[in-house]
Amino acid sequence: MQLYNSLSHKKEEFVPHEAGKASIYTCGPTVYHYAHIGNLRTYIMEDVLEKYLRFTGLDVKRVMNITDVGHLTSDGDTGDDKMLKGAKREHKTVMEIAQFYTDAFFSDCKKLNIKTPDVVVPATSYIDEFIRVIEVLIEKGYAYEAGGNIYFDTSKLDKYYVFNDFKEEDLAVGVREGVEEDENKRNKADFVLWFTKSKFDSQELKWDSPFGVGYPGWHIECSCISMKNLGEYLDIHCGGIDNAFPHHTNEIAQSEAYLGHEWCNYWFHVHHLNTNSGKMSKSKGEFLTVSLLEEKGYNPVVYRYFCLLSHYRKSLVFDWDNLNNAVTSYNKLVEKITLLLSDKSGEIEKSEYERLMKNFTDALDNDLNTSLAITSVYDVLKSKTNAVTKLSLISEFDKVLGLDLIANAEKSAEEDNEEIPSEVAELVEQRKNARKEKNFALADEIRNKIAELGYEVKETRQGTEIKKI
Ligand code: AMP
Ligand code: ZN
Repeated sequence: MQLYNSLSHKKEEFVPHEAGKASIYTCGPTVYHYAHIGNLRTYIMEDVLEKYLRFTGLDVKRVMNITDVGHLTSDGDTGDDKMLKGAKREHKTVMEIAQFYTDAFFSDCKKLNIKTPDVVVPATSYIDEFIRVIEVLIEKGYAYEAGGNIYFDTSKLDKYYVFNDFKEEDLAVGVREGVEEDENKRNKADFVLWFTKSKFDSQELKWDSPFGVGYPGWHIECSCISMKNLGEYLDIHCGGIDNAFPHHTNEIAQSEAYLGHEWCNYWFHVHHLNTNSGKMSKSKGEFLTVSLLEEKGYNPVVYRYFCLLSHYRKSLVFDWDNLNNAVTSYNKLVEKITLLLSDKSGEIEKSEYERLMKNFTDALDNDLNTSLAITSVYDVLKSKTNAVTKLSLISEFDKVLGLDLIANAEKSAEEDNEEIPSEVAELVEQRKNARKEKNFALADEIRNKIAELGYEVKETRQGTEIKKI
C-alpha cells in the first residue's frame, strides 16, 4: 500500500517495522466538550486506514489516549486549560467532565461505525510514566527547569521542525495569536513537560513529582502512552493536520531524545472539515455534533459516507446541501443493493470477483482513495456478474468502508416486503419460476394479474423490482 507520509512529503510504500504487524497510534480527543463532526472526520478516516490494514491481513494494534489533563487552548503552553474551562462552564469537577465527554465520544464513534482502538488510555492514568520519561530527559540533558516548570530544550536537537519549514519568528508566541510569551523558555520553540508554577492556581488535578507538585504538559502524554504500549518503533502515527505542529513535532522531539533513535516511520494527517466561514472548531463555538445530525433526521452513517466521498488529504467543506446530496446518493446505493437481495441463486463467479476486488484494493492501496473505493462499489453493481458475487463483494468492501450497506439494504427489503401483499408476493414467485422454465406466456399472464392487483413487476440488471402502480 502506498501512503502519503507527512515526514517525507511524499507517497511511500507502507512497510511495517515487523512483518505481518502494524502499530498505530492515534491522538485521542480532549474531553472537555462533545466532539464536533470535524474531529470525527479525522477519526472516520483513521478508522478506514486501520480497517484496510486489517483487510490486507496485517495484525494491527491501535492505541489512543484520552486527553483529560494538560491541553491548553493555544496547543502550546499558553492560554487556558481546556478541561478546567469545561468544568467551570458546567459547574462540575474535571473528572466528571472527562468521564461524561469520553462516554459521549465513544457513543458518537459507535454511531459512525468507528471501531474503538485496542487500547485506550486516559492521560491521568499514566502520570508515573510521564514522570519517569521526563526524569530520563533531564538526565540526558534534553530538559531543564526554569521558573518552576520543566521544559524540553529544542536547541539540543539537530532538526526540530520536521514537518514543515516553520520560521522561528512566526513562533514568537507559539502558533496562535493573542497569547503571552513564556519568559522562562531558553528558546522560543521549547515546550513544557511538567508544570508546577503556572497561572492555573485553581488547577484541580495535581500530582506529586520530583520536580514539584504539578501536572504534565499535553505533548508528553502521547509519546509515553505510545512507547509504553507499542514499543520503541511505531509504524503509523495519526491525527488531524493541526496536530502536526506543535503537538506531533514535540512528540517526535521528546520521543527520539528519550529513545536515542528514530521513532515513528509514517505520519498520517487528515485535513480539516471546514464550514463556509473556516475551520470547524470548538473554540469558535459554532460546531456540529452527531446528536445534532440525528435531531435533524440524518443517519450518522451518511455523514461517514459523506466523508468517504473525499480524499483525506483535501480539506472538506461542510454544508447542508452537500450532506443532502450524500443522502440521496447513499439511498440510491442502498436501493440498488436491496434489489440484489431477492436473488440468492448461483455461485460466486471467481474471475469477475477477483477483477472487482482488485478495483477496490487498487483504490485504497493508492493512499487510501476512499472516493474511488466507493466508485468500485458502483462498478460491482454495474457489472454483469450474478447477485451472489455482487453481494459477497459489497459485504467484503463494507468491512473497510463501514457503511452498513448490506444491513440497510436488508432493512429496506423488509420494509418493502411488508408493503407488498402476500398475494402479490406469491404471484411474483410463481412468475419467477415460469421465467426459469422459459414459460414466458405464463410469466406475462402472471404479470397482468399482478398489475390488476396494483403492482408492477420488472426485471432489471439488479434483479426483480416490484413497485406499486
Ligand atoms: P481535540 O479533541 O481538539 O484534541 O481534537 C481531536 C482530533 O480532531 C485531533 O486529531 C485534531 O487534529 C482533529 N481536528 C480538530 N479540528 C478538526 C477539523 N475541523 N477537521 C478535522 N479534524 C479536526
Ligand atoms: Zn497526541
